[in-house]
Amino acid sequence: MKTLVWVEHDNASLKDATLATVTAAARLGEVHLLVAGSGCRAVAEAAAQIAGVGKVHLADNAAYEHGLAENVAPLIADLMADHDAFVAPATTTGKNVAPRVAALLDVMQVSDILSVEGEKTFTRPIYAGNAIATVESTDAKLVITVRGTAFEKAAATGGSAAIEDVAGPGDAGLSSFVGAELAKSERPELTSAKIVVSGGRALKDAATFEEYIMPLADKLGAGVGASRAAVDAGYVPNDYQVGQTGKIVAPEVYIAVGISGAIQHLAGMKDSKTIIAINKDEDAPIFQVADIGLVADLFNAVPELTGKL
Ligand SMILES: Cc1cc2nc3c(=O)[nH]c(=O)nc-3n(C[C@H](O)[C@H](O)[C@H](O)COP(=O)(O)OP(=O)(O)OC[C@H]3O[C@@H](n4cnc5c(N)ncnc54)[C@H](O)[C@@H]3O)c2cc1C
Repeated sequence: MKTLVWVEHDNASLKDATLATVTAAARLGEVHLLVAGSGCRAVAEAAAQIAGVGKVHLADNAAYEHGLAENVAPLIADLMADHDAFVAPATTTGKNVAPRVAALLDVMQVSDILSVEGEKTFTRPIYAGNAIATVESTDAKLVITVRGTAFEKAAATGGSAAIEDVAGPGDAGLSSFVGAELAKSERPELTSAKIVVSGGRALKDAATFEEYIMPLADKLGAGVGASRAAVDAGYVPNDYQVGQTGKIVAPEVYIAVGISGAIQHLAGMKDSKTIIAINKDEDAPIFQVADIGLVADLFNAVPELTGKL
């Protein structure tokens, strides 16, 4: 089977999500990558070095600069004439592009796969990860999104794939890029951080969240996350949200501070290697998934912990 993997990038460098997607695609067969962007040859060159990649298709066109799904989906649909499966990470961009590709190809999308069980058979979470379904596609072509935390990352070096320029249909005239406001932070990005410190409703407000969570995160070199309750109450922006309707993370260490452990939150972090919970309620559900639990008032425990690090 020949697969076409969507490379996530910012026209300058590859995003990590691509590497786990390559691992998933390699379980299906030959791996080809698509780098669609503008002035993005450096990305294609980096992509060509990923271990196990057979070919990189480079579509360098101003219409693809911002990865607008309306523009890139027809390009992918054209390339799918020569591929059997389109594979994208289940990120915001991947989830934006893949359904359009599936619609253009008139096939079902298989979303958020956790494993490849056979040529057309996959597992995927349902009911916020409380059950795992095994699904089989009967479509001629596959369109798949991949949960990055479920697959090892492919090695970023060691490959030497050829780069082939492709033209593509260009601007579909359906949408235009207006602007992007990106949060800038010195801290590691939430989905790739090795340690994540997350705060919940118990943090009370934005100032308290900043006062208690940030120093702990900075001591640990950690990314910062939050429960939806903390996001909805405006303590932190919504790109901090971990969970079913937020980001899925699986760091080495996840520290949940003042978070009850609702299933929608667990859906985003329960695959973390070591889970540490600080909560003053010993019956809080978070303790059922925690490897280390501290029943304590966070307003005492967190400064003490931060002080001792
Ligand atoms: C469709 C849907 C999607 C959702 N998606 C998400 C999602 O993606 N992510 C998400 O997080 N939620 C999500 N939710 C919301 C989820 O159900 C919970 O409401 C939310 O996770 C609760 O956040 P919390 O744990 O911060 O708050 P709470 O449930 O209010 O818990 C606060 C915790 O802090 C503890 N606490 C209080 N004071 C202290 C203190 N001084 N010291 C120590 N501990 C203290 C309490 O004992 C309690 O356990 C979703 C809900 C729905 C219906």
